[in-house]
Amino acid sequence: MEIKIVRKVLDVNAKMAEQNRKLFSEKKVFVLNVMSSPGSGKTTTLQKTLLHLMPDLKCAVIVGDICTTNDADRLATSGVPVVQINTGDFGGDCHLAAHVIEKAALDLNLDDIDLLIVENVGNLVCPAEFDIGEDARTVVLSVTEGEDKPAKYPLMFRECDSAILNKIDLLPYLDYDIELARKYILDVHPDMPIFDISAKTGEGFEPWLAWLRKKVQQKLI
Ligand code: MG
Ligand code: ZN
Repeated sequence: MEIKIVRKVLDVNAKMAEQNRKLFSEKKVFVLNVMSSPGSGKTTTLQKTLLHLMPDLKCAVIVGDICTTNDADRLATSGVPVVQINTGDFGGDCHLAAHVIEKAALDLNLDDIDLLIVENVGNLVCPAEFDIGEDARTVVLSVTEGEDKPAKYPLMFRECDSAILNKIDLLPYLDYDIELARKYILDVHPDMPIFDISAKTGEGFEPWLAWLRKKVQQKLI
């Protein structure tokens, strides 16, 4: 019974996601869905990413959190249009669904956007199950988390197109085995591009930015 209901929710979501995808294609907007557990450094990573991409790419952000506008306030300092979604208003969902993205997109001038980044709700489980009509997905994992997160949450790592290993500036102070983390990622998703970065120091951003720029250009050309 419960499985049937879940399937219906996902079917409805898939239809809405296709509508979003069509709209984003018509408007020539590339959509990146960024996911992670809470506290991995998504917002700081995106702040730095936006600084590098602008003004060559016209960017905007949709941020999902259950409560608060803290992340939207931080991202707005980058000077890009930011729409905050509080899923608390939609029943407290722990993920962003396609219909929520559709609503948030109405608050943006899509004609004036090349890259729309969606910072999903911090959660490694259900955001991976909800197609929002995006073009690519990135998962952020920080080196303060367990190396085996990819083994514990395989769907997330299977569904994403690239992975960011963040907070590498902390490696000297941790017993973290970055090669082991990489192995766990590649076990569930062979050939996944993995970018080691420090959103704090800015180290390692170029390969990540190159990957993202190429993806965006492939759609917009
Ligand atoms: Mg955040
Ligand atoms: Zn959820």
